[in-house]
Amino acid sequence: MSQKPEDFFKNIISHSKEYGYIFQSSEIYDGLSAVYDYGQNGAELKKNIREYWWRAMVQLNENIVGIDSSIFMHPTIWKASGHVDAFNDPLIDNKDSKKRYRADVLIEEHVAKIEEKIEKEVEKAKKRFENFDETMFRSTNGRVAEYQAKINEINSRFKNALNDGNLAEVKQIIVDCEIVDPVSGSRNWTDVRQFNLMFSTSMGSVAEEGNTIYLRPETAQGIFVNYLNVQKTGRMKLPFGIAQTGKAFRNEIVARQFIFRMREFEQMEMQFFVKPGTEMQWYEHWKEERLKWHLSLGLGRENYKFHDHVKLAHYANAAADIEFKFPFGFKELEGIHSRTDFDLKQHEQFSGKKLQYFDQEANISYVPYVVETSVGLDRLFLSILSSSYKEETLENGETRVVLSLPPALAPIKVAVFPLVKKDGLPELAQIIVNLLKFDHIVTIDEKDTVGKRYRRQDAIGTPFCITVDHQSLEDDTVTVRYRDTMKQERLKIDKLAKFLDEKVSLKSLLQLL
Ligand code: ATP
Repeated sequence: MSQKPEDFFKNIISHSKEYGYIFQSSEIYDGLSAVYDYGQNGAELKKNIREYWWRAMVQLNENIVGIDSSIFMHPTIWKASGHVDAFNDPLIDNKDSKKRYRADVLIEEHVAKIEEKIEKEVEKAKKRFENFDETMFRSTNGRVAEYQAKINEINSRFKNALNDGNLAEVKQIIVDCEIVDPVSGSRNWTDVRQFNLMFSTSMGSVAEEGNTIYLRPETAQGIFVNYLNVQKTGRMKLPFGIAQTGKAFRNEIVARQFIFRMREFEQMEMQFFVKPGTEMQWYEHWKEERLKWHLSLGLGRENYKFHDHVKLAHYANAAADIEFKFPFGFKELEGIHSRTDFDLKQHEQFSGKKLQYFDQEANISYVPYVVETSVGLDRLFLSILSSSYKEETLENGETRVVLSLPPALAPIKVAVFPLVKKDGLPELAQIIVNLLKFDHIVTIDEKDTVGKRYRRQDAIGTPFCITVDHQSLEDDTVTVRYRDTMKQERLKIDKLAKFLDEKVSLKSLLQLL
């Protein structure tokens, strides 16, 4: 069914509320901006995604271990990491709409629009010429060259402006590119200002001074400050990784894209400690491994692309994003960064403690380099939810809404339906639930026609429905119905456990890696 992307996105948002996936936080008090709660199905899906990531990192890699550090940390950590001084976003307001934007995002979106124009030229030419050579076309076509030159110029001005901290130049780029406010359509912009994204609070008795602490804006620093504890107690040898999942908090300027950009969110990060000089090889390795992990979810290769950073963060010597095609376009899903020895060196300096590794082979001590993989659990949730949501028109003209979630991640794995509420069918259904519930989340549904029950489970994304009918009493078989194809087959009850193990266990996904 073709519909406008914004309508499609609205449908996903209302569907996720209707089926217990995501609720606006504090809804009965009119909500809290950019903060969301996960409902009964959302919490399960989120837990399964987290678990899949954790197992892929920690269980499948002998040299990666996981930790769980606190949200509150010593305030000097954020001084050392550079967050107190530099964790800023450049903000700009439109004087007519009174809407606030991130200046960098406005410029990046402008560049993306020019890139789209190039893509269109390429597509047009592809249709026109046989034996089309795309590289040749890009380098020789006048219009494409003009667009490309414009992109290069904006990128280079933008990179220099950010490097020099020249906010007037950032504004000038917006003016020169004639970027308009998407709401008011006007070019009436304020100056660009820096805005620190960290939330602060105080610890201990309120009257004391100097007790300001921050809610962590990333989980990574909890890994860095525990690097030596883990290395020593786990007798870890380079290269090795430390993984962690947990909440992070950012006072985001623009928070208008549902769970894509939240002020309280969850990250899943892994810092991989390596010998200096080998970081580029590991950076490439983790780029490839992380893409493979995303692809194993089966959401389609065409939905992912790499984006190499134009401007590197203060700590990085290489950085790329894995972007996903969200309903509002390709956007960052995960970051892979080569962070050099920046963080550990800073913590050495600010704490006065050595954070070195003794390399027995080379007989020297050094501060390891770090390659980081950092993905937002909520963004991952949105990528899975939005690409699984389908509105299908059936042969009888009815619309079927189905969430074709990867079965291993679905909140409910099986719904068991007694065909009627009598003749011992509910009792047999309960026996089946008892048989499966130790391994999977199983639900029993007795209300309405079987057709309606199918629709309900399709909308929740339950991969299998089992119907218990009168034949089941005679030959111990049940009907198993597949969510995506709607095909049915009869299976012996004692074969159900094995069947589900193969189809819906996390192991089935992990084996693809
Ligand atoms: P963006 O450019 O979109 O603000 P970022 O580059 O600041 O993201 P990182 O600091 O690299 O993001 O954080 C790593 C990951 O954490 C991101 O790839 C994203 O998936 C997730 N993330 C970051 N900020 C948010 C947020 N406000 N809400 C939800 N997820 C987030």
